Amino acid sequence: MIARFQLRCSGHFMFLDTSNKISRMEDWDEHYMNLAIDAAKEAYALDEVPIGAVIIDHKGTVLATQGNCTIGGNDPTGHAEVLALRKAGKKVNNYRLTGCTLYTTIEPCVMCAGALVNARIKRLVYGADDERFGAVKTLFNICDNGSLNHQIEIQSGVLESECRRLMQEFFKEKRTSSKVY
Ligand SMILES: [Zn+2]
Repeated sequence: MIARFQLRCSGHFMFLDTSNKISRMEDWDEHYMNLAIDAAKEAYALDEVPIGAVIIDHKGTVLATQGNCTIGGNDPTGHAEVLALRKAGKKVNNYRLTGCTLYTTIEPCVMCAGALVNARIKRLVYGADDERFGAVKTLFNICDNGSLNHQIEIQSGVLESECRRLMQEFFKEKRTSSKVY
């Protein structure tokens, strides 16, 4: 599946270079966002908040795929993005993920946005804004804040409706079963 996509989009490899514009990245972004959505669905099936994240390197190789795991892991830091950063760091044997792109279904929170900056992620792509916790543009602007020593390129709204729908379904289901989140 990935190989076929890369072949079809082989002419687009240049877009991974900083000189290229975001508009050329659409097909590529949707492909990886779909992987993040799959991870979110897996989290949903485990009764976790359905957020998924994927990290790729500068060549488009997937380094990590991860869904939220706060409840099952009894871990308040077990957000998809943080766990994906840990996995990717182990894979490349480096705490810096320079040149990497992180895809996530929902706008990262304060913790995750800070972790992305610490990891020196090059580019962040996310699906839907998070009105309650979003720290990339909704409540705070951590990822491209000029006061910090690293700024991340940001693309939002990729497969937004699907990403949002999963969250809405999950919380609607929880409210119906009167479990409080
Ligand atoms: Zn988070």
